[in-house]
Amino acid sequence: MRSVPLLAALLVAAPLLAGNAARTDEKINIVAAENFYGDLARQIGGGHVEVTSILSNPDDDPHLFETSPSTARNIADAKVIIYNGADYDPWMDKLLSASTKPDHTTIVAADLIGKKSGDNPHLWYNPATLPAVAKALADDLSRRDPANSAHYQANLKSFQMSLQAIDKEITDVKKTYAGIEVTATEPVFGYMAEALGLKMLNYDFQVTVMNNAEPSPTQVTAFENSLKDGSAKILFYNSQVTDEATARLLEIAKQNKVTVIGVTETEPAGKTIQTWFGGQLDEVQKALAARTQ
Ligand SMILES: [Zn+2]
Repeated sequence: MRSVPLLAALLVAAPLLAGNAARTDEKINIVAAENFYGDLARQIGGGHVEVTSILSNPDDDPHLFETSPSTARNIADAKVIIYNGADYDPWMDKLLSASTKPDHTTIVAADLIGKKSGDNPHLWYNPATLPAVAKALADDLSRRDPANSAHYQANLKSFQMSLQAIDKEITDVKKTYAGIEVTATEPVFGYMAEALGLKMLNYDFQVTVMNNAEPSPTQVTAFENSLKDGSAKILFYNSQVTDEATARLLEIAKQNKVTVIGVTETEPAGKTIQTWFGGQLDEVQKALAARTQ
């Protein structure tokens, strides 16, 4: 009970401090186009940043996203803006040209790892991407807010360390299972499959589906055959996009005892980058172990 009067005293005192103290406590506004970059920003900025993520609903198809006036307002207020690039979020370019703070920083993941329009845009599944974005952000925050620089750099170090555990799992899988053939309905998990040394079948089909076009009969037949003839050991599907064509492939996979693994574009609620990727890798490792006995 003693804490009550103390708290009351602090609440009374707070407005008196507002003149000077509030400025140093002012949080840096960060807008991330996708929620995993938002999670990253929170992990690097800690209590010194206020993060808004635009794409955060794992049940929506990010490729069909349309912006709203509130998104434009968030961008206008942001000091740091993080987005994917490589044509994944072309609506960001439009928002950025509308109105931004004069001293804002834009961090584009694609630019940091040398990817461009036409490349597989699911860059966050490339193990090089998140460390590069984290470093760029920690450096920018340190420059803006030198008083808390040590804090940002320490957070960067812990972030990098936590990703090392994931890198180790990638190396372990690659050592044992490199060259094993897998397939996918969309190229969401493509960079990770490549890092794992897995051989991805039916890539053309995946790009067509990602662009909301109809795969050709030849592409469909090749895909179905890879499930029926036992060459594909795992079928990755984008659990954020479930249409009739996908449902049919999942059914064929089931009939032919091909392991099906759902992956998401957007970070699921209640997960962190680390638990999200770690969980997916565990699932892949388990599936490969079972399929190759
Ligand atoms: Zn996608």
